[in-house]
Amino acid sequence: MSLSPDFSKKDINKNIDRLINEGYEVARKASDGDSWESVISLLDEFEFRFERECSVNSHLNSVMFDEKFNQEYEKTLPKISKFYSNISTNKELFNAHKRVLDTNLTQQQTHIVHEAIKGFQLSGIDLDPDKQEEFKKIQEKLTVLSNSFSNNSLKSTNEWKKSVSKADLPGYSEDQLSKIRKKDGSFEITLQMPVYLDLMTFCENQTLREEVYKAYISRASEIGLTSKKYDNTKIMDEILKLRLKLANLLGFNNYAELSIASKMVESPNQVIDFLDLLINKSRSQALNEFQELESFAGCKINPWDFAFYSEKLKEKKYGFKKSDLTPYFPEENVLNGLFSLIKELYEILLKEIKEDSYHQDVKVFDLVKNNESIGRVYIDLYARENKRGGAWMSDYQPLTEKNKPVAFVVCNLNKPTQDKPAMFEFDEIVTIFHEFGHALHHLLTKVEYPCASGISGVPWDGVELPSQYMEFFAYDQEVIKKISSHYLTGESLPDELYQKIIDSKNFQSAIQMLRQCEFALWDIKTHMSSEDTYEILNEVRQKTSIIPPINENRFLNTFGHIFSGGYAAGYFSYKWAEVLAADAFYYVNQSGSINKDLTYSFKENILEVGGSLDFMTQYKKFRGGEPELKSVLLSNGIQ
Ligand SMILES: [Zn+2]
Repeated sequence: MSLSPDFSKKDINKNIDRLINEGYEVARKASDGDSWESVISLLDEFEFRFERECSVNSHLNSVMFDEKFNQEYEKTLPKISKFYSNISTNKELFNAHKRVLDTNLTQQQTHIVHEAIKGFQLSGIDLDPDKQEEFKKIQEKLTVLSNSFSNNSLKSTNEWKKSVSKADLPGYSEDQLSKIRKKDGSFEITLQMPVYLDLMTFCENQTLREEVYKAYISRASEIGLTSKKYDNTKIMDEILKLRLKLANLLGFNNYAELSIASKMVESPNQVIDFLDLLINKSRSQALNEFQELESFAGCKINPWDFAFYSEKLKEKKYGFKKSDLTPYFPEENVLNGLFSLIKELYEILLKEIKEDSYHQDVKVFDLVKNNESIGRVYIDLYARENKRGGAWMSDYQPLTEKNKPVAFVVCNLNKPTQDKPAMFEFDEIVTIFHEFGHALHHLLTKVEYPCASGISGVPWDGVELPSQYMEFFAYDQEVIKKISSHYLTGESLPDELYQKIIDSKNFQSAIQMLRQCEFALWDIKTHMSSEDTYEILNEVRQKTSIIPPINENRFLNTFGHIFSGGYAAGYFSYKWAEVLAADAFYYVNQSGSINKDLTYSFKENILEVGGSLDFMTQYKKFRGGEPELKSVLLSNGIQ
């Protein structure tokens, strides 16, 4: 049993080739099987080793990007995709699964085999051989296109840089300046998220804001503020075209229908109705919020002015700046406070392990229950060049009879400086809680079948429930007491500042709601149509847009969730899961404090069962009924 991944980046193509050959042999054996052990267990044992290898390669490509490794990594992608499509279109293996269904199975096993059979069907098992061949080719092409999309986004983000002097940055605090100060004393603006956000939020120089905004919003496009050679437009069109073809081959009218076939929701129209309802409930409040901002600014608000004036208005309304909070949240206290919450909720300890991984910034923790390690998490928190932006959790290995689960948690936060510890902004802390929600879903599993353990086999629109549920705890007063400690005085966040966080939490929440619904609605609609994707975005914006976008806006060209992640025709999952998360949190917190029994019930019915049982049924079991939409409006302060 090993909990330590091999981060050596060695021989990845040789290893993948060897594993794939082994995989075909395992599949051949399993095809002759007729029982859980001789089919599912056999495949699972292989899947465990194979997924581990794929996971660590993908992780290193994201967090330690280098051209040479990326070339090797890209060579593995079509092979892996081809292997999976061969396996999922293997008729003998499909028949073996059907034989297993006729045997005596537990409820979990039955669910798992049913889902596997559905997976075969969605992979074109019932297609004629020539159509099947076409189907496979499309899938392989899509994998390569997605990776090119992601690389173009990264390269265009890294490429753009601008040297400025201190005089160009009025409004910057010493802390913000120290983040971008170069060795020669000059300052460098980049399009990395923390740098970009600081500039948009604090820089009083409107011309510079406009310039950086335009570079950022037109990345990887034909506009040309970043190299046109990283233009993603054709790749996006090709991806959408191929997805439609894929869906049509399976007899679906469009890709949205195909995507939803494996989700909790029942149809694309149900998604549209659900989003329309949220948009309608939010629109008038959003217009009021925008009017308030405009009259505060006393001028027309351009997209590059929005964050700047919003921060100032928020400061005026609530009497604090984001940066007033930051000194209270040094890294060590945030992590220890989070760990202490996890202990309180689930009686799990996190214990740091000294281990060299792939970078000195990575921290390693074992999860310990009753003095026994039950899993491990690698935490990689700071932004650096050659690390993909954003925050995410990925699973390295699942629980099995002989192995403990391991997860990677990645963020892009500020590093410690020479004389100060790393300190996080409050919304970044919410992100850490979010990713830990995913990690706990993966690590607290009781399911020993890799295909349904942790986050495996969980429907996409359920995946974000545990993470968003965890976010709610970041706003709890007791929790904030635990995670805050002023880096100079050790004082925890004063009550008065806490109250301001709560009052300001729903600042412009209706505008935010519209923005997220805009992404989700565009995503589902573009996957129901062959119309130009920017045209569809324009149509959606009729309902959702508060500030008209500028001509250079090519936001979709770096929208990785849709074009290189797994959220195609599934972005609504965030909102769908938010409804469940709000509903769940208000339920466990109904009497004004966290109810321990209900928290445990959440763990038992949701976190521990992963993809081994029907998600919605499990949710209702925990909740004692259907989730209610009113909780999500309440939690966003929308009347
Ligand atoms: Zn998430």
